[in-house]
Amino acid sequence: MDASHIDGDLVNVLYTEDDIRQRLAEMAAQIEEDYAGRDILLVGVLKGAIMVMADLSRAFSRHVEIDWMAVSSYGSGTKSSGVVRILKDLDTDISDRHVLIVEDIIDTGLTLSWLVSNLSSRKPASVEIATLLRKPDALQMSVDVKYVGWDIPNEFVVGYGLDYSEKYRNLRCIGTLAPHVYS
Ligand code: 5GP
Repeated sequence: MDASHIDGDLVNVLYTEDDIRQRLAEMAAQIEEDYAGRDILLVGVLKGAIMVMADLSRAFSRHVEIDWMAVSSYGSGTKSSGVVRILKDLDTDISDRHVLIVEDIIDTGLTLSWLVSNLSSRKPASVEIATLLRKPDALQMSVDVKYVGWDIPNEFVVGYGLDYSEKYRNLRCIGTLAPHVYS
């Protein structure tokens, strides 16, 4: 689905399909350099990270393994609380593995902080984070995010895996949702 198919639902297109592909290729190149000689296990959190995982993993010119977690974060409305329940755990034993968490967007970072401490308790060789988008509040987070696609303003964005009420995930671009859609 393109922006033209949801005429009027977006205030603006922040990143086109081409922008995203290019940025993910740059990130993959950096990650490959940093992890030279080490195996990488990419861990995605369902469902938002599906597109980033699909395109980032294919941008590598080497083998990577992929695994998924599904978590539910209890929060009020659109903000998460950091209280998390695992709905689907990893299939992989991550002890002594180099884990790279692949995220679509980090807002408060509460879910991610929980995830990092959960995964760290399983004795991996390392845990790092790659996210396509990061919002300003995330900068106050105690967890370091090693790879960031873009820092964006504090607006609600959809597309490329990011939903509003389970819609817009299959939008090719990333855009700011028009207030009339959710008010
Ligand atoms: P955090 O724990 O960092 O506050 O929550 C991150 C999660 O909130 C993301 O994985 C995503 O599901 C959701 N989220 C945060 N900001 C946005 C946004 O602008 N658009 C969409 N669609 N989801 C968002």
